[in-house]
Amino acid sequence: MSIAKNIAQVRERINAATRRVGRDPREITLLAVSKTFPPERIREAYAAGLRVFGENRVQEFSGKAGSLRDLADAKWHLIGHLQTNKAAKAAELFSAIDSVDSLKLAQKLNAAAVQLGKKLPALIEINIGGEEAKSGVVAGSPELEAILAGAPQLDHLEIVGLMTIPPFTDDPRQARPYFQKLRELRDMIAARRLPAVRLDVLSMGMSHDFEVAIEEGSTCVRLGTTIFGERART
Ligand SMILES: *Cc1c(COP(=O)(O)O)cnc(C)c1O
Repeated sequence: MSIAKNIAQVRERINAATRRVGRDPREITLLAVSKTFPPERIREAYAAGLRVFGENRVQEFSGKAGSLRDLADAKWHLIGHLQTNKAAKAAELFSAIDSVDSLKLAQKLNAAAVQLGKKLPALIEINIGGEEAKSGVVAGSPELEAILAGAPQLDHLEIVGLMTIPPFTDDPRQARPYFQKLRELRDMIAARRLPAVRLDVLSMGMSHDFEVAIEEGSTCVRLGTTIFGERART
């Protein structure tokens, strides 16, 4: 099926999910996860109206970014784990970093953004299932508190929300409690009214569970397979 058709169907499903819970579909950003796909596919999605894209590797996107520069109003989000030694490169290439998981990384990104003279929106990635092998900070951990406490010193990195990848389950309904937990965490932190911490964005929901995520308050769904098709195994 064509990318344009996939996008039209996804929009229908987003609309239906928001309707079920009385939300406005305009609250939901559709972020197209274009990792592993070549620039031509990204252009098709752009032509079909998408403007927000997600890539999970600095290296891979660095190879594609040059040939996509003419898409001036497209936004490029880094959604994968970022090592501190690649922070400067990431700050240069991307419009936003959705996977901040340590204060040290946040500081490196901020320093790079200062150098570049740009403001970099960022999400804190939360390991909501507390899984051993997953990146992200655990709710209630000292690292999360360190990032929140450090935010006022980061004047070029704007914390605007939280992101999570819940533990994988075959049945999307089993992801619901994790989405609820992320929303509750957001509400708890927001209630503290911390300086320089804005939590408008809840990035949660992927191809197999985005409708459940929307029902639980997601404001950004990250969709790869449902838009571009299956990824080749690398
Ligand atoms: C790959 C990826 C996605 C998209 O996954 P699909 O199941 O193909 O929709 C979303 N978020 C992150 C962080 C990813 O790495």
